[in-house]
Amino acid sequence: MTGDVTTLVPPLKKTLFCATHPSKEADLYCETCDELICRDCIVRVHRDHQYDLVPESFAKQEKVIVDSLKPVEEQIAT
Ligand SMILES: [Zn+2]
Ligand SMILES: [Zn+2]
Repeated sequence: MTGDVTTLVPPLKKTLFCATHPSKEADLYCETCDELICRDCIVRVHRDHQYDLVPESFAKQEKVIVDSLKPVEEQIAT
């Protein structure tokens, strides 16, 4: 049996790496530069940028996607 619970898990569960430092784990996402960054990058380049934790950034985007799909679902239902 494959539980329905798996569909609720975000697909981005794998480790993401910094674009500038491929050996470093990128746990942050710079919304100003639109790229994954590590903590070293924040200090050096993205200090004054708009950045967020990766899970939160992707959760935001996911919400936008879900919201944009809603009207379509409603149209199908009626
Ligand atoms: Zn980096
Ligand atoms: Zn940046």
